Amino acid sequence: MELYLTMRRRADFPFNMDCTPEDMPVDVALRALDVAAASKSPQILLRGNEPLLHPDLEMVLKGFRKRGIIPVIETSGLMPSMAKRLIREYHCRLIWRLYRPSLYSPEDLEEMKANLKEFSDGTITVRLVVMVDDMSADYGFVREYLDNYEFEANLWRFSCLHDQADFSPVMALISDLMREYIGKNLVPALACGVMPCAMTDAQFGFMAKVGGKYARCIPHLGVLPDGRVCHCQAMRMLPGPHISTFKNEGELHQYYIDVFISLQWQLSFCPECNGCPCLSAGLCTGVSMAKKAHGMLAKYEELKAKLAAEQGELSDEARMKLLWEMSEVCMILGLYPDAIECLEEIRRQAPENGKCHFYLGVCYWETGSLAEGEDEFRKCARLSDNPLPALNELFNRFVKNGNTIRARLLQGEIEKEELKLREAQRKS
Ligand code: SF4
Ligand code: SF4
Repeated sequence: MELYLTMRRRADFPFNMDCTPEDMPVDVALRALDVAAASKSPQILLRGNEPLLHPDLEMVLKGFRKRGIIPVIETSGLMPSMAKRLIREYHCRLIWRLYRPSLYSPEDLEEMKANLKEFSDGTITVRLVVMVDDMSADYGFVREYLDNYEFEANLWRFSCLHDQADFSPVMALISDLMREYIGKNLVPALACGVMPCAMTDAQFGFMAKVGGKYARCIPHLGVLPDGRVCHCQAMRMLPGPHISTFKNEGELHQYYIDVFISLQWQLSFCPECNGCPCLSAGLCTGVSMAKKAHGMLAKYEELKAKLAAEQGELSDEARMKLLWEMSEVCMILGLYPDAIECLEEIRRQAPENGKCHFYLGVCYWETGSLAEGEDEFRKCARLSDNPLPALNELFNRFVKNGNTIRARLLQGEIEKEELKLREAQRKS
């Protein structure tokens, strides 16, 4: 899990974020640490523009110590001297962001190198992360750092919104670095966002041979400064519930697997993926989730505008069609309150529609209205020829919530319904 601790910054670097509030309140950070501790997570990453500038950093680090979690801090390397003391005192590990040299002022570049030298004494674990913001720039300058400072690992980070073809020049360099630094245990690893097709077969094969790694587009759970969770930094435009909603990290992880499963497979946004062997081999799920989400959000805006502009001008049938489309788009994006608005209108027009009750069940449940959710699943079951899908969905949700008593009672109902169905089939 990653905490986006503060939006404060020492310089305007690429990938900086803008969120409110500027600083994560300490109680939110501690709540997130409780969730991590409940899963016995060994370490948590502090990110944000420059986490070492958080005014209550020491209180947050005390929270780590109390829970036995190792703090890993991702820094630009430009830090106040108080932060240096805290890094040593709280045995933090560092992830050192390295940008293109032209992005630093001469003074900042000098300060960053001096700080890096200071932490290269072997007492603090430092991993280098190269921030690739310009795909056509020359990143050969990285060799100077790999040769002159001590790092435990070398990671490369990109924006996952780039076209995979744009990666060619930087992939060629990374491939060379894999050969050059294999002896120093500094084979570059790729952060998520680079798909197998960004590499040639030879590059991909060589990476596999030397144990190089690339991260997949799976939840890289984040907590925003206001305490809401997100799938990953690139998906922060679609924040989820507050971190205090979750008992442990496993639950949060499962939440994002469930909520975005349909979005993950929206291959309509990447027709080039159809027939790709990496899909069938399970190596990839198409272009990044963030790219698909941006495509889906554009569709959401288009439908929203149509529903607003054409109110009163559309036939009932045409409006219902738009409402169904909008409900489905909202559910794919996890925008449940918007989906509820559309589905409630559909329910008023078509109260006997089982699918509408099922979708409402999902949306109410996901927004914490469990009683209303159960009611809708049961209505769907009553209105359907086969009540089992709705009842099984409700059963699974009881189990996931840890409500074993309700689940067991419902299991009895499901068994009775199964008997009735079998009996009906036998008679027919
Ligand atoms: S959308 Fe996927 S590839 Fe992009 S940052 Fe998130 S997890 Fe990584
Ligand atoms: S599935 Fe799509 S994104 Fe993934 S490797 Fe194949 S072509 Fe590239």
